[in-house]
Amino acid sequence: MGGHDLQFEKARFLSLALECGFDEQSAEKCLDRLISLYGDDGQDFVTVECCGDDFLAALAESMQDTEDWDDDLQVIESEACGALSNMFEKDDTSNCEADNNGNARRYINVIDHSPEPKKQQSWMELDSSSDGEDPDFCITKGKDSVSTTTSKRLSRSMDCKSTVTQGSVSSICNKKQRPMTQKDGPQILSYEELQALDDFELANVVIFGNLTFRPLQHQACKASVAKKDCFILMPTGGGKSLCYQLPATLKPGVTVVVSPLLSLIQDQIITLNLKFGIPATFLNSQQTASQAAAVLQELRKDKPSCKLLYVTPERIVGNSTFLEILKCLHRKDQLAGFVVDEAHCVSQWGHDFRPDYRGLGCLKQKFSDVPLAALTATATHSVREDILKALRIPNALILETSFDRPNLKYEVIGKTKESLKQLGQLLKDQFKNQSGIVYCLSKNECVEVSNFLNDKCKIKTVYYHAGMAARQRVEVQRKWHTGEVHIVCATIAFGMGIDKPDVRFVIHNTLSKSIESYYQESGRAGRDNLPAVCIALYQKKDFSRVVCMLRSGQGCKRENFKTAMAQAQKMKQYCELKTECRRKALLEHFGESFDRKDCKNGSNPCDNCFKTSV
Ligand SMILES: [Zn+2]
Repeated sequence: MGGHDLQFEKARFLSLALECGFDEQSAEKCLDRLISLYGDDGQDFVTVECCGDDFLAALAESMQDTEDWDDDLQVIESEACGALSNMFEKDDTSNCEADNNGNARRYINVIDHSPEPKKQQSWMELDSSSDGEDPDFCITKGKDSVSTTTSKRLSRSMDCKSTVTQGSVSSICNKKQRPMTQKDGPQILSYEELQALDDFELANVVIFGNLTFRPLQHQACKASVAKKDCFILMPTGGGKSLCYQLPATLKPGVTVVVSPLLSLIQDQIITLNLKFGIPATFLNSQQTASQAAAVLQELRKDKPSCKLLYVTPERIVGNSTFLEILKCLHRKDQLAGFVVDEAHCVSQWGHDFRPDYRGLGCLKQKFSDVPLAALTATATHSVREDILKALRIPNALILETSFDRPNLKYEVIGKTKESLKQLGQLLKDQFKNQSGIVYCLSKNECVEVSNFLNDKCKIKTVYYHAGMAARQRVEVQRKWHTGEVHIVCATIAFGMGIDKPDVRFVIHNTLSKSIESYYQESGRAGRDNLPAVCIALYQKKDFSRVVCMLRSGQGCKRENFKTAMAQAQKMKQYCELKTECRRKALLEHFGESFDRKDCKNGSNPCDNCFKTSV
């Protein structure tokens, strides 16, 4: 390759760097290093195609990276473990009340009246578990009626488009749900109404306090009891957990649930035991030997009392003692099924890849007749195929609900030079006294943004990141949940446990690192199905910060970086769409075809559709 070509390549590298928001000077320096690294002999390899990613990675590394990213949930994880241990060592009779017949009636009022340690736990509710469900409700059983008091039950996705596919069969279900609104008060079913219910519906009312199923939940429960393998794809807020928790209560034996994070497990265990009265327990590597032994002893019984057993993936992969226990359960006909939650972690292509998940294929290999359900809120078609293959469930029943959230309006706004002022103005103009989240990329950014809004714009905000003490985080969540403060400036650590239905806006002060993350984070708006706005504030420079974060956060592995970069690029493209429909772009990313007209003519068109319709 001659000198002229190298000049040409250099120009291409530089424009790549500028396109990604890096400054020219740093890019030139870094490029010189790259060229000298390859030397005269290797100049042919110095092309954007061959080493564009390496170049960006090196460039990101060379930046004086002082940002304190918040992509490590380790802190929250270890706390979760501690809280779980406390819970199991403690007698929880404080949350039980005996009724007239002497039967213990369990309920938990997680917000205000629980003892201190539980207060902390209660705020860490999993998005997908008890979304939209009121933490303080109880069920009273009468002779001929069941009344379910749900003071804040909300109407949701009434006509959600859902599809069921197995092999060549495919159908669309457009089941209308019985609307329940905030002011409904106690819902009473008559004896006749109760009699007309099937086992699933009855369990849904009596145990879980829901008068109706959300789209596809009923099918998922039936499939589970019929011992079918299932792949369940529901967006956050769709009620995934019920799809395995309900059948677990109907089937004999123990359902084993694999979940990636202790904090998620914690939330589920608390909800199941204290809110629904369903015996559930867990095993993880951080338990003390005696705690684990107690659980294992229970599992060795002829009929273990627990219905759900939560484990982290490393418990299963390469742990022969645990596999022995599973085999033993299986022999006694007490192994009801496997559930792989957050199944996108299985996939190399998913945005949250965990190596231990990959080994979960051993479940189907060793227990071919035990049904397995894979659940996720984010999976493209290629990720789905990858999951089915890795878990060895090629013929699984596929249950997918639409990812479209018609009540959300998507918008991207270019950042001005004084972007914090701009943000403050936006909040004042459009979201006065409304509840919302401002997502930031790093810990220092969320502190900075919050301080600026408080001091300079006189907008009351709080900030939240994983580096804060647990007590402070609980306090921030409390303030925001109760409406004492409307706006929280947060990193992605503010995710688990957000169960606030009336979030009117989610603003990304910096773009997310992937479309998956963006969809999930922005999806925290409008869980009550009322209109809400999702805005991404964007400038090219922010993308270089994302690159820096990926470089320092992902263990620096070349392959990981490549995948992460490709995902981040897609997010960048989303932000840079000039005329195309953003809703369509998001949905197509998840493999869903979408007619732009539905956005344009819908009640909440995206900014680009709105522009072209007037
Ligand atoms: Zn649109």
